[in-house]
Amino acid sequence: MSIKMRFMEATQNVTGSRYCVEANDMTLLVDCGLYQEREFRSRNWETFALPPESIDAVLLTHAHLDHCGLLPKLVHDGFRGNIYCTAATSDISEIMLLDSAKLQEEDAEFKRKRHEREGRKGPHPEVPLYTVDDAEASLPLFSPVRYGQTVELGDGISATFFDAGHGLGASMIKFSVKDNGKRKTIRTSDESKAINSIRGSAVKSLARVCVLGGG
Ligand SMILES: [Zn+2]
Repeated sequence: MSIKMRFMEATQNVTGSRYCVEANDMTLLVDCGLYQEREFRSRNWETFALPPESIDAVLLTHAHLDHCGLLPKLVHDGFRGNIYCTAATSDISEIMLLDSAKLQEEDAEFKRKRHEREGRKGPHPEVPLYTVDDAEASLPLFSPVRYGQTVELGDGISATFFDAGHGLGASMIKFSVKDNGKRKTIRTSDESKAINSIRGSAVKSLARVCVLGGG
């Protein structure tokens, strides 16, 4: 058994957080954030580096859009698993995602009208990145957990959410993976230093880290 972590966000930017934990036969996605820096926004339109239907579950660290804002697109593109997070993160995500979807719709319409008026085409399609319907479709997948509660994800893998102190409901997630009777653990949170420590501990515990760059 090995635990693999793939950092699926680019290394030069701070938004668009998402990384994948592959352990035993499970594929888990930690966060699914929106790229918010102007120069990286076009990445929101790229095809996911993993087929969304192949992802078993998403675990959300918190409800900021750079961590949850691409979930409606993930669901639109085929993800059907559970989205585990604290109840507060679930409640805030609902508001954030519906609001973000409305803005995406308004933005697309605004661009369409402007381009029509100016008789030109923009670099991106004049359709919303995702719609309010997509955001609504993602809501039933949210599965709230309590701090300290351990969720069995299947295949000898469990996750426990701890208070990360980053905002209401924000969590550090500890993964525990059973390997021949022994348990290996890795942790995550929003802080970049914590992500770096995951890289370190993952490498130490024989995990392979693949930095995928954008996508
Ligand atoms: Zn944050």
